[in-house]
Amino acid sequence: MKVDIVIVGAGPGGADAALLLAKAGKKVVLVEKDEIGGECLNWGCVPTKALVHAAEILDITKESKRFGIEISDAKADWQAVLAYKNRICTMLRMGLTKSLEAAGVEIVKGFGKLKDKNTVLIEPSLSNEAARSLEADYIILAAGSAPFVIPSITLSERIVTSRNIYDWPELPKSILIVGGGVIGLEFASFLNAFGVAVTIVEMLPRIANTEDEDVSAELTRIMERRGVKILTSTKLAALTEDEKGLNAKFENEAGLTEATFEKALICIGRRPAFSQMGLAEIGITVEKGVKVNAKLQTSIPNIYAIGDLTGESILAYISSAHGKIAAHEILGKEKKYNLEVFPRCIFTNPEIASCGLTEKQLTEKGIEYEVKKAMYAANGKASIHGKRDGFLKLLIEKSTDKILGAAIIGDSANLMIDKAVLAIAQGMTAGQLEEILAGHPVLSELYTAALES
Ligand SMILES: Cc1cc2nc3c(=O)[nH]c(=O)nc-3n(C[C@H](O)[C@H](O)[C@H](O)COP(=O)(O)OP(=O)(O)OC[C@H]3O[C@@H](n4cnc5c(N)ncnc54)[C@H](O)[C@@H]3O)c2cc1C
Repeated sequence: MKVDIVIVGAGPGGADAALLLAKAGKKVVLVEKDEIGGECLNWGCVPTKALVHAAEILDITKESKRFGIEISDAKADWQAVLAYKNRICTMLRMGLTKSLEAAGVEIVKGFGKLKDKNTVLIEPSLSNEAARSLEADYIILAAGSAPFVIPSITLSERIVTSRNIYDWPELPKSILIVGGGVIGLEFASFLNAFGVAVTIVEMLPRIANTEDEDVSAELTRIMERRGVKILTSTKLAALTEDEKGLNAKFENEAGLTEATFEKALICIGRRPAFSQMGLAEIGITVEKGVKVNAKLQTSIPNIYAIGDLTGESILAYISSAHGKIAAHEILGKEKKYNLEVFPRCIFTNPEIASCGLTEKQLTEKGIEYEVKKAMYAANGKASIHGKRDGFLKLLIEKSTDKILGAAIIGDSANLMIDKAVLAIAQGMTAGQLEEILAGHPVLSELYTAALES
């Protein structure tokens, strides 16, 4: 069978590309080995944020007395929380599937593999189905990423990755989270709220290492206050399993220590998922991910690669932007996104969001800058919400007054960051941003407070 475009992978990247191309009248086949919506909708962004939200409701309920509301015995029912998460994922997956079908996209279940520059072989997911071969003018590879696992550690019922916690019949009493990056921190935050004793082990000197040091320090302070144990500059030397649970050996400057846990969650990063897809065999260059140019073409020009698969980011909205850029290229059009200045969000409690350059990057670039900071504790709305932890800071170039970076840790940081993204992307100066009024009482007044500081 011959079609215009075959897309391998129905995550946010592949699905958005498919929708755009089909709506433009192209004959599109979308090949997916697993679930429509990819990692994002089924195991990543959406389900974790549902669990974050449930944990937030539990926290608010437990603290309700300080707002004059009496609720007794608030607790998490893990199976009911999972049922809520499943309802959201199913609803969104069905919605996406309907949109794809309505646009005329043909969805084919199976594992897509390249035979040559115009042919995708589809190994069926069911053994009673026959393999298919599809010819296409263009191919978009959107196969995403998979969790990276320490080679010396064998995954099991007790030692899991972010994919498996939804299979737990009940919450464990204790968990070791290996890796203090974005994914590990989000899991640590909501599992702690659900009453699990959480320990994070991180090899680097601080958690949330990609953020500024003061953001990491504030998150560490708050998480430790909530009872999360954080071991930094510490290596997991061994993780063994017996009938009672897991034994972990930690190694740091002070020497070796040991601790036992019921479960362990490995969150040490993700890697592009191109194995078994026959890419190298047909001459596609693969480095840390599938190598692409600015138009997202691989080393074979009619084959595009997008999203996590390129190794350029692990973010759903970058995958989605990539999908739309590649689709426009195929249609002979150009689509631009600002892939320099965008929100970087961490859904911990409290949330973290940043954009533009960090203090470390400004220093490395030799840019002289000024820090303007405002504390949540001094903001009226934050006090009303009872969420007084955190701060907002703006990094301003001294010579031009331009805002070059922003970081927020605190209530609704992921909403609050949009104003900074817009200001930095539009090249605004601190003076210009100060002219823009915020409402009252709102969290956005933190911008005014920082700029006037
Ligand atoms: C726990 C967790 C939380 C996250 N939270 C966020 C968040 O809050 N915000 C955010 O922006 N990002 C988040 N991410 C990252 C986000 O999920 C990914 O960046 C995003 O899903 C990548 O989209 P994609 O389209 O590139 O690939 P994916 O979503 O990974 O989709 C790829 C699809 O391709 C399929 N596939 C792979 N190989 C083949 C093949 N050979 N044949 C057929 N099908 C194939 C896969 O089954 C999958 O469905 C999170 C990730 C995790 C793991």
